Amino acid sequence: MPALNARDFPIEKLIEDPLEDRPVRGQAEFRPAEVEAHLYPGDQQATGLRREIRGLLLVWAIHPGQFRQPKAHLERASSKRRHCGAMDAQDFQRQAFVADAHADSLMWNRDLTISSTEGHVDFPRLRQAGVKLQCFTVVTRGLPLVGAFPLFAAYRHWPRAARRSEWSRASWQIDRLKEFCRKSGGTAAVARRAQDIGDNLRSGRLSAVLGIEGAHALEGGVSRVRELFARGVRFMGLIHLGNNELGGSSFPWLGDKGLSQLGREMLDEMAEVGMSVDVAHASRRVVDDILAHPKARPFCSHTGVRAEAASWRNLGDAALRRIADRGGVAGIIFGTVFLGGKELIDVVRHIEHAVNVMGEDAVGLGSDFDGMVPLPRGMRDVRDLHLLTAALLRRYPEPLVQKILGQNLRRFFEETFPQ
Ligand SMILES: [Zn+2]
Repeated sequence: MPALNARDFPIEKLIEDPLEDRPVRGQAEFRPAEVEAHLYPGDQQATGLRREIRGLLLVWAIHPGQFRQPKAHLERASSKRRHCGAMDAQDFQRQAFVADAHADSLMWNRDLTISSTEGHVDFPRLRQAGVKLQCFTVVTRGLPLVGAFPLFAAYRHWPRAARRSEWSRASWQIDRLKEFCRKSGGTAAVARRAQDIGDNLRSGRLSAVLGIEGAHALEGGVSRVRELFARGVRFMGLIHLGNNELGGSSFPWLGDKGLSQLGREMLDEMAEVGMSVDVAHASRRVVDDILAHPKARPFCSHTGVRAEAASWRNLGDAALRRIADRGGVAGIIFGTVFLGGKELIDVVRHIEHAVNVMGEDAVGLGSDFDGMVPLPRGMRDVRDLHLLTAALLRRYPEPLVQKILGQNLRRFFEETFPQ
């Protein structure tokens, strides 16, 4: 494969001509056989496989549910005891600009154009819930120390060529989202420019926003930032669950490392190109390093607040305040393991604290749907989002609920996307 060159992706070109559905020079369409031959000499593969099998056994021993797709509750517990006001909340949601900053749906290899009983999110269910913008994040590496992502991907029936390297895994997921949008019959489209969000809304289309979880997916290639931007990726977290060559993760016992030289170069390139940086999963020192960057556009796609639950991945007040000062938004996570409680009201507690610290214009939703985390009791999937909306409407005036449900995230993306 020809080496990528940053000059192939001048920023002006990316903004004027977003290359929609056109192969990018140097990384034409995804060519499985070529990728495989280029990246995986036979013996490396064998050692890699042994390591993965060890990792898999360890993960199964620690957390047997890790490889199971989140199962939407078949029984509709919430509808049985639907309190009055629920219909109002559903109507409210249909009329509001509802946006969610984080879903890991691409890693489960489901067809997102089909309504499924598995997982939390697909285009039909998002439409039913009145969601207007959904961020889809690309995951390419598993837990620290054990890895095991290639085996996870094999178990979920990813094609062989898409499983082998982090870059090929990322490419495959990006291409799949575009394929789903093409297949969707005009009900979903990847939003690349600021005006796409309003255009999609007026045409009744879901805006899909692409993000990367962990810049190890670029395999050290800083110039790939431009390529990803050209392919529609609008935000990226530098780190995921483990430390990587870019810097430290917030995962426990990993030493709170800061950004490496490569991490700084990657951040500079993102700022230059106009790709926002997601601080989710970053160590405290990396969060500080990102927030100290004069040109970066920081936000957080999914987080709890540390003042409400002292989880390793929740943000402290100082970081929240600085994100808001920089015009960023924090999406509040629904995963109950990080909230210090299993009820919807626990999500509300985190939202409330974030609003108190960051103000009304910087808090949004960051569900982590399909991210292997348990949802609050009574919430099967995105179709039960109205329960949270109802809880918010009982506490706050409607304009504030609209901001939290999605207007703040829309404002952030409209400010940071190319015009
Ligand atoms: Zn995550």
